[in-house]
Amino acid sequence: MARLLSIIMLIVSSMVVTVGCQMSDVIDTSSDPRPWTNGTIKYYFDSSLSVEQIHLIQKGMLEWADKTNISFIEISYDKKYAVKIFRGDKSEATIGHQSRNYLKLSSFGNRTILHELGHIIGLWHEQCRQDRDQYIIVNYENVADDAPISDFNKSYQFYDIRNYSYDYNSIMHYGSFAYSKDINYPTITKLDGSYIYPSANISQDDIKKVNEIYK
Ligand SMILES: [Zn+2]
Repeated sequence: MARLLSIIMLIVSSMVVTVGCQMSDVIDTSSDPRPWTNGTIKYYFDSSLSVEQIHLIQKGMLEWADKTNISFIEISYDKKYAVKIFRGDKSEATIGHQSRNYLKLSSFGNRTILHELGHIIGLWHEQCRQDRDQYIIVNYENVADDAPISDFNKSYQFYDIRNYSYDYNSIMHYGSFAYSKDINYPTITKLDGSYIYPSANISQDDIKKVNEIYK
């Protein structure tokens, strides 16, 4: 019986870890974000990335390029305004086109790559919309002390939010336990307290927003 109990406890604790272990990242808007000219994003890979990791990133680029008006072009010279893509200790991305552009990745799951590329394209976090209080509750008291608080504050977006319903399924929406200081307490919930699960896919409205920015 004791063994059975410990097995059940192990299963339950691994479920909690699964819910608690959600992608979180840092966004950099420090140098005047704007859309990319003609929807063309120039980039290059740093030598810190393995061939396999490069393939995973290219797969994510192909998906965005297939579904939207964006195109990605790898360059080997004139790198000043191109996106430097490299491996690092956390995920961090510049939004849109700035005077300095980079994508740092610490993990290479499909959702993480699609989400971070979304920032590079020019999308902010969905939970940061100006109208978000009508749809979600941000529990600031549950946010870890070292979390980038801008990920939870309202912010500007390139597209007109009036054209889009609030999108819990956006690839740009955090899950309920992102940056939680305690995995039992969510940082973001729906208004009724229910949880938001991070989407693994680019949503239909994600596509429409990108195509509104890049007609
Ligand atoms: Zn993000």
